[in-house]
This record gives sequence, C-alpha cells and structure tokens, in this order.
Amino acid sequence: MIYIDNAATTPVSPLAAKAVSECMTSIFGNPSSLHSAGQRAAQVLFEARQTVAQCLGCTAREIYFTSGGSEADNQAIRSAAHAGKKKNKLHIISAKTEHHAVLRTLERLKTEGFDVQLLDTDENGAVTAQQVRDAITDETCLVTVMYANNEIGTVNPIADIGAVCREKGVPFHTDAVQASGHIPIDVQKDSIDMLSLSAHKFHGPKGVGVLFARKGTALESLIDGGAQERGKRAGTENIPAIVGMAQALKESCGEMDSIAAQQIAIRDRLIEGLARIPHSALNGYRQKRLPNNVSFCFEDVEGESLLMMLDEKGICASSGSACTSGSLEPSHVLLAIGRTRETAQGSLRLSLSKYNTMQEAEYIIQTVTQTVEYLRSFSPAWKDKVSGIKPYVF
Ligand SMILES: *Cc1c(COP(=O)(O)O)cnc(C)c1O
Repeated sequence: MIYIDNAATTPVSPLAAKAVSECMTSIFGNPSSLHSAGQRAAQVLFEARQTVAQCLGCTAREIYFTSGGSEADNQAIRSAAHAGKKKNKLHIISAKTEHHAVLRTLERLKTEGFDVQLLDTDENGAVTAQQVRDAITDETCLVTVMYANNEIGTVNPIADIGAVCREKGVPFHTDAVQASGHIPIDVQKDSIDMLSLSAHKFHGPKGVGVLFARKGTALESLIDGGAQERGKRAGTENIPAIVGMAQALKESCGEMDSIAAQQIAIRDRLIEGLARIPHSALNGYRQKRLPNNVSFCFEDVEGESLLMMLDEKGICASSGSACTSGSLEPSHVLLAIGRTRETAQGSLRLSLSKYNTMQEAEYIIQTVTQTVEYLRSFSPAWKDKVSGIKPYVF
C-alpha cells in the first residue's frame, strides 16, 4: 500500500511511538500532584514544553497544550475576538481558503456581532501583506491567516503579514498546522502573536496540539475547571501524547532540510508527470508550495471515483480536505482560486511524508494517468468535448 495522504494525517514515527509507550507505562502521575510520582510527570511535561518552544523560537511559558489544531484555532480566535469586543473592536480579517476550524469559528463569532472580512486570494490561493494592510481599520481586533494551505499547499507570506500587523498593533494568529515540522517557522522573525499546530500532521499522535500565545496576549479558556496550562486549559494533561508530540516535532525540525529536499524532488516529479495528463491543472504555485503537496484538477473526472479506483490499486490519496470528503459540496479552497464547481469535483491531492519514494511516484503517475483516461471514457461531458460540441476548460 502506498500512503500519500499525509495532509490528512501521518503515521506516528517509531521514536514518538516509543516515547508515548514508555511514558504511558512508567510516568502515570498527575503533574498537579505534589508527591514524587506527580513531580516526575510535571518534569516530563516541562521538558516537552521546552522542546516545543525551542522548535518555534519562543519560551516554554508561551506554549499551551491543547487537544489538537482545531481547539488551538478556536481558542486563539475566540480569545482575540472577545478581548477586542471589550475595546469595541469587532472587525476580524481572515481569508477564504482557511481551514474549517477557523472558518466555522468565525461564522459563530458573526452571530455574536463580529464583522468578519474574508480576503480573496490570488489564483494560487495566497493573500498578500498589502491586502491585509488595506483591510485593517481602527476596529480590527484580529488578523488570522494560515501559514500553509492544507488542500493546495500554498504558503502565505507570513513574515510580511506579521510585520504589517505588528506595525498596526493588531494581534496576528496563524494556523500553522500544515507548516509546522515541514517548513521553518520562527514566531519572532514572523511576528506571530498566536500560532496553532497539531501533532498528527508531523508524525506525532492524534488528539494533541499546541497553541503558542505570545507573552501578554489575552487568552480565554474554552474549558472551565482546574488551573492546568496556567489557567488557560483545564483538564489533566495528556502527558503521553504531549511527550510523543515533542519527540515528533524535535525529529521533524531536526531533519527538516534533508527531508524537504527529498520531498521536493518527488513532488516535482509527480507534478511533471501528472501535468502531462491532457486537460489537467495544477492547483497552487509551482514553487511557493509545501515541499510535500501536489494538487491537481482533472477535467471531467469524478474525484471520488478516482480515489476509489486508486485505492483499489493500492494508493491512499485524497481529493482535498479530509473534512469535506464525503460531502458533495466542492472544496471552498478550489472555488476560491477560481475553479468552477465542475472542475473542482475532479481534484486529487497527494501529500508526501518522509516515507514516500521516487519509485512510488512513478507508479502513481502511471496509475493516475490510466485511471483518469478510463473514467473519462464514461463521461458524456468529456465525449462532447472530444467531439468538439463543448470547449475544454483547461
Ligand atoms: C488538520 C488541520 C487542522 C485541524 O487539526 P486537528 O488536530 O485535526 O484538530 C486545522 N488546520 C489545518 C490547516 C489542518 O490541516
């Protein structure tokens, strides 16, 4: 089986799995307990916090452990919004291509009276610092723009956007779930005030993530209870998962350059090979994309059918976001970059990990090429185009 759906989730690295397992069996104390079993757990938690902080370029006290990327996004956005409301600032700036964890949170805030402005992206899915500058008003309480897109791999100019927000004194949050562990992130250089990441996107366990919140940033707790995470996230800490996440992040950041180089070579071969399929289009930039993302639309191909057939041939891929798969709505990201509803249905996302090989890429190119041709042979719309009745889109 070829697993090439790592933007949905990644296999846990052997070292992270070992760290989780060792922690589960030997460090069971509650870090809030004063006895030695508890203090051992508190020590392990502290070390994990330091490791994560080092990878992001912040201090351990600025790290808040969460149940994952969605929770971190929710907490960051709600916190900034409600802090803004106290100062009568109800304007929030974001982008059309954000993850649903951001978009749905913003939808809810609209019902609380917030004015949410979703920036258009260019045809590759990026927003510019100038767009953000033009959108900021005296009422803006938050800018939230994702680091890298989960469907099409587009990397936003985060340092530039951060600089604008810093200059204007507006809190800046970025959903870095697809970027962390894959491309270099430095919350100082990028002027980031809040950042979300999720362990299972970089070979860590599921159900654990991080919210980085710069010292002095107003944070509200989504869960009331004990004083864990300095009062910002109640509930006994998931120590094994946190330790596994820290191990996975350390590994990913340590090997980042060599893995990125290896992935870019495979990514570019896949793009080159799939671009040869007639009437196909690459989604996102050719270069300014994540090292591990390949995203295409194939005209007159049903994405779901393509995925099922690829699965039968041993390839686990995706049409885009795992969260929209199964629903017949076309991807909001593909619509935002200007794909029609029809062409957006024929999408394929291949997202690599360090375990994918060039040999797999060759098999994938061959298999996708054959399958697209096969599926088109059943498509009435395709036949109309072949016979010249209708024009091709791409
Ligand atoms: C996966 C993902 C999330 C959600 O993270 P979970 O840990 O699964 O809640 C949020 N944003 C982006 C960009 C993602 O890819």
